[in-house]
Amino acid sequence: MTPSKTSTKSKLHTRLFGYIHSSNDPVYLYTFENSNGSSVSVTNLGAAITSINIPDHQGNCEDITLGFDTPQDYLDHTAYFGATIGRFANRIQNGRFSLNGKSYQLNQNENRHCLHGGHSGFDTKLWQANIIQGQDGNDLLALSLESPDGDEGFPGQLNIKTLFSFDGTDLKIKYLATTNKTTIINLTNHCYFNLKGHRYGLATDHNLMIKASDYTPLNSDYTPLGEIRSVFDSPFNFNQTKPIRQDINAEHPQINLANGYDHNWVLNGYEDETLKHAARLSCPETLRTLDIYTDQPCIQFYSGNFIPAAPAGKGNIQYQPRSGICLEAQGFPDSPNNPNFPQSILRPEDTYTKHITYRFGVLGKNYT
Ligand code: BGC
Repeated sequence: MTPSKTSTKSKLHTRLFGYIHSSNDPVYLYTFENSNGSSVSVTNLGAAITSINIPDHQGNCEDITLGFDTPQDYLDHTAYFGATIGRFANRIQNGRFSLNGKSYQLNQNENRHCLHGGHSGFDTKLWQANIIQGQDGNDLLALSLESPDGDEGFPGQLNIKTLFSFDGTDLKIKYLATTNKTTIINLTNHCYFNLKGHRYGLATDHNLMIKASDYTPLNSDYTPLGEIRSVFDSPFNFNQTKPIRQDINAEHPQINLANGYDHNWVLNGYEDETLKHAARLSCPETLRTLDIYTDQPCIQFYSGNFIPAAPAGKGNIQYQPRSGICLEAQGFPDSPNNPNFPQSILRPEDTYTKHITYRFGVLGKNYT
């Protein structure tokens, strides 16, 4: 459970974000504005978080997530800024898997692999928006999507709902999905964080702690080796808070092949599937903190090693590799091809339900 804290009221405002060039479809921005001055915006294109404005230790708000000023820029760029990732986060090797004795070929959008759901993953879709009242009186944004049977090669018609809420400190995401045929599913959020502010250079000076004793090392093609390996005595040990830059260029075969961090950490105690504290990112300069709570078993820590230069980011800021880092709460990557990993299978009689909470604070004033 996340610890209790005092929350303030947030109101949700809707405005036009822009248009998709090919279809002329309008795209909207939904902004939670909180009485403490903080705000969060989400767009129905890709159910993506486009901005997170939160105060530092002096009360100054900055936007601490990478993004773009127009919907078309989101479609033209390949870094998945802030997006909801589906149907299956990370890579499925050769885009191929078997389920119940039947083999499936998915669209291969990254070399031979299927990355983050294929050519037209959930990050490219226009979601249906509804504003509803949460139990605490705060507005909730519900974004819904129907993914047809065979979408990008995945079996089953999937109905997905992503719920967002923000009360001034907690940005909560809830995923719900049902299917009409047994299928695989692994949803995550792909925010890039820079707690100094998205405009202020590299995020590698941040401190990071991940509550994980193991990680899943990679093949040279970035798919998992299938091994669950201890982090201890390696650059992958984030059990004690350390600066990201400390070991990011270490002489280690796994660091060399990923050009930094781009690995999956296996969260301690994940088997009980309860919402728990998984990671903390903090910024020594602004004292902003981000605590991540999830009931997902893993976190992909991607240090933004390949953030493409174009198009320019929000406010015409030129991002570069490591301008922001991702901490993606997810299921085990490529589990369909690694039978020793816990599986992410959804059956027609079940509802996929997963949570991610991003809790923002300031060092010395936290609730954890
Ligand atoms: C993956 C990276 C990939 C990136 C794309 C991350 O989730 O771990 O390997 O390059 O997404 O933006």
